[in-house]
Amino acid sequence: MIKKKHRIRREKKTVEAMVHIYCHGRHESHQGLCYECTELLNYAEVRLDKCPSRRVKQPVPTAKSIVTNR
Ligand SMILES: [Zn+2]
Repeated sequence: MIKKKHRIRREKKTVEAMVHIYCHGRHESHQGLCYECTELLNYAEVRLDKCPSRRVKQPVPTAKSIVTNR
């Protein structure tokens, strides 16, 4: 249980960093996140909390995987 919590916390850190990079590049926010990205991050964190561990590690689909899985 402790290990799982630790991993989820790390996942959240990763997601948070990704959203910050995205928001900074896409929405040109210089400090913190815009409203939209704050909502996105909150949603992602709720998902991580509720997700069974096997679903958390799902690879993010890339353009290549979408094309080849069609
Ligand atoms: Zn944003």
